[in-house]
Amino acid sequence: YVRVEGLGKSFGPHRALDDINFAVRSGEVVAIIGPSGSGKSTLLRCLNQLETQSEGSVTLAGITIDAAKPATRQQLTELRRSAGMVFQSFNLFPHMSVLRNVSLPQERVLGRSRKEADERSRALLSRVGLEAKADQYPNRCSGGQQQRIAIARALALDPKIMLFDEPTSALDPELGLEVLAVMQELAEAGMTMIVVTHEMHFAETVSDRIIIMADGRIIEEGPSAEVMRRPTTERAQRFLNAVK
Ligand code: ATP
Ligand code: MG
Repeated sequence: YVRVEGLGKSFGPHRALDDINFAVRSGEVVAIIGPSGSGKSTLLRCLNQLETQSEGSVTLAGITIDAAKPATRQQLTELRRSAGMVFQSFNLFPHMSVLRNVSLPQERVLGRSRKEADERSRALLSRVGLEAKADQYPNRCSGGQQQRIAIARALALDPKIMLFDEPTSALDPELGLEVLAVMQELAEAGMTMIVVTHEMHFAETVSDRIIIMADGRIIEEGPSAEVMRRPTTERAQRFLNAVK
């Protein structure tokens, strides 16, 4: 469903990613953890081509982008539509109601009518527990609520996979829990997800597999419980000791 082969990314002389290989099956939830600067965000950004890789290929929902061959516009559009992305900062439009925030991308990207888009938006807002906020402005919502709106907005484009980059790290722990609960429900509903996170509990209990990165490489990968309990490398052990 997702396949990454020989992926590398350099920023000038700096090697942000080096020979990354992994695959994610449909319905699988993979957590990516690792120290700051290890390349986690860069990897996610290469997956939906917000960043162009220097080497290797990324296949996502049937679209393959290879470093050796520039992607066509159509490929990029399709790829980005297939992958919903949620960032640490929610990036909602402050001058639009919550409902419009979720509806507008559907009209722009999928060509849905306003009525159709609004109906879908209300259903998704109710799914993330925010039906009552539809007609308010984002600044009247808590950080946790805003992040759940951002998740609804991403889901509104019917993505095949959801990419999360530390969606709770800007939030108070309590508000983070609301967001993690929504993500857990999504996972249980069968959504394919790749989640960069510092939440070890989430990684251990919700994700099927954990990938640990350090210095632009994958240093450990396996079923969540196994990776958490007995990592095979000393570097991974050191990281887990520091964060657990
Ligand atoms: P964090 O946990 O702090 O978010 P990360 O694992 O997401 O870290 P990345 O943001 O992927 O790390 O960065 C990996 C490395 O690449 C870092 O050394 C970073 O400074 C570098 N880097 C990332 N983006 C760029 C860029 N646009 N230009 C130059 N260097 C970059
Ligand atoms: Mg990051």
